[in-house]
Parts: sequence; C-alpha cells; structure tokens
Amino acid sequence: MTGQRPLENVSYAVIADARKGARARIMDIACPVCGPQRQGHLARRKVLRTWQLDGGGFSLRCVRCELRGWIAPDGSESHRPERPAVLAADDDEEERKRQRNAELAERIWRQASSIAGTAGEAYLNKRGIDLSSVPDHGGLRWHPRCPWEGETTGCIISRFTDAITGEPRGIHRRPINGQKPKTLGPMRGCVIRLWPDGLCT
Ligand SMILES: [Zn+2]
Repeated sequence: MTGQRPLENVSYAVIADARKGARARIMDIACPVCGPQRQGHLARRKVLRTWQLDGGGFSLRCVRCELRGWIAPDGSESHRPERPAVLAADDDEEERKRQRNAELAERIWRQASSIAGTAGEAYLNKRGIDLSSVPDHGGLRWHPRCPWEGETTGCIISRFTDAITGEPRGIHRRPINGQKPKTLGPMRGCVIRLWPDGLCT
C-alpha cells in the first residue's frame, strides 16, 4: 500500500510542519513535490496522504504524483519500518469490510428469488420494461425485504459477474420505492449480464 523506500526528495521538517497540530495518525496535506508545479488551489490540494509511524517518522503517498515512501526525523535507517503498524491495521479493517460486503451480497442474492410475478416485475412493467420475453427474466431477482441502510426494502437484484471468468461477484440493488440504487460487494472488472437500458444508474 505504501512505499517501503526512504525518500530523499522530501524534507522531514516540511511534512512535520504541514502536519502540525494533527490529532489523527493519518492526515492529507498538500504535496511538496507536485504541488509547486501547479498553481492556485491545485498547488494546495491535499493530495498527499501522510501516516504517523511508530518511531517518529512518516509514511507518505501522493495520489497525484509518484511520491511514495517514508521519511524519518534524522533520515536514519534505524527508523526503517518493517511495515507501518497503522497501515496494517487500516488494511485489515478494509479487508474485513470487503469480506463482510461480499458475504452480505452473496446472502442477499441467495435469499432473492425469480422476479417473475413479483412487485419488482410490476415496477419494471410500469416503466415499459417487459422482461417476460427475455430468457430467465434477464437473470433479475426480487428480494421483498432486502437489507438497506439499516432497514429493509423491496429491491430488484442483479448480479455482477467477472467479465473474463464469468464468476459471480457483487450485486446491484434497485429499491422500487424510487431511491437511488446501490451496489454491494466486489465488482472490479465485472459486468451485469443483462440490465435493461435506462436502468443502469
Ligand atoms: Zn505529489
């Protein structure tokens, strides 16, 4: 996630100064490398994420330029972090969240059943979308009590599949009460096999 190399083109003092007063271990600041190459608000844009490391150093990662690595107060190798503890914790938390979302997506998909003859199909019909002639109703499902923002609501569910392997991945949930649809679970590199035109957002 972050660079493992010490940085020579960034001053520790500049970063420490920009972070002055920071309470959190993670703080986004302007990038001293790519910022000065830009003007006005672009120069000040907080594109550089900094992590306070145990031992007084900082781990850095810019989302705009190639800058990533770490710096220590005296530049000494003794500060070299094996793996920044705070980053490991972040990664673990991210990973757990991804896992939970993937499991929930899978559970919702399994609980949902064919959309044929449901309120979900009626909703689409009302919008001029007739699924009855589409094989397997386009693979769409209906969940009358789909988990939704801490509550449940009736949703039309479709499944993302990996574009290359065809493996099932995350899901797309469209509530029929007019709320904005949401995706859940993994979907990078995925496609929805069939989703009627005009319903993709
Ligand atoms: Zn930068």
